[in-house]
Amino acid sequence: MARRLVLWDIDGTLVHTKGAGTDAFDLALADVLGEVPEGRVRMSGKTDPLIVHEQLALLGREPEPELVDAVLARLVHRLADLSSRIAEQGVACPGVTEVLAELDRRADVAQGVLTGNLRPNAVVKLAAFGLDRFVDFDLGAYGSDHLDRNLLVPLARRRAEARLGGPVAPEDTWVVGDTPLDLACARAGGVRCLLVATGTYGADELVELEPDAFLVDLTDTDAVVELLAEDRPPVNVP
Ligand SMILES: [Mg+2]
Repeated sequence: MARRLVLWDIDGTLVHTKGAGTDAFDLALADVLGEVPEGRVRMSGKTDPLIVHEQLALLGREPEPELVDAVLARLVHRLADLSSRIAEQGVACPGVTEVLAELDRRADVAQGVLTGNLRPNAVVKLAAFGLDRFVDFDLGAYGSDHLDRNLLVPLARRRAEARLGGPVAPEDTWVVGDTPLDLACARAGGVRCLLVATGTYGADELVELEPDAFLVDLTDTDAVVELLAEDRPPVNVP
């Protein structure tokens, strides 16, 4: 049985969609409302429903549940439409494929996602780079589950325990992400957090937050695997 649970953030941690994610939001808003906000919402680390709430606010609209749901439904279609563009123009972050493959080979580690993406969109983004085969999507939690990312870790842990057929201790659970909001949700859920500087936040900003571990990126496969699976400290803490 898996002793370890690793919950991966997606955007900025595992992959970059190079604008396709943002474009999908604009297309979905245009589909439903016929307009998009002039200003930009900072999306990093936020759940998709929260992003829609903020976009509606920029448009002077109330976040009525039916309206939010309609935009999110279109977001699923629009991102699926962009899947080949994501595969062609997007990238998996450095070292990610090797780390996920190596952890996948270990019977004592289960891998899921903890992401603000809606579940279908999480699958699209990982499948574009062949990363979906390393992740058990039933272990994770998603923007589909709640607007508040801080509520997602307990949900993911419950799902993992049900799926794995036994308890997974909080200290054996890692959230890996690229933003202060990833750290916040790990803290809220009482689990450990590795932050990486492959997203929109710089190394200095992330180290200052004192996550349980920090790595510039995931290129040192052995170091990342030893950290996440065996608690050996990372070697490139600045
Ligand atoms: Mg992210």
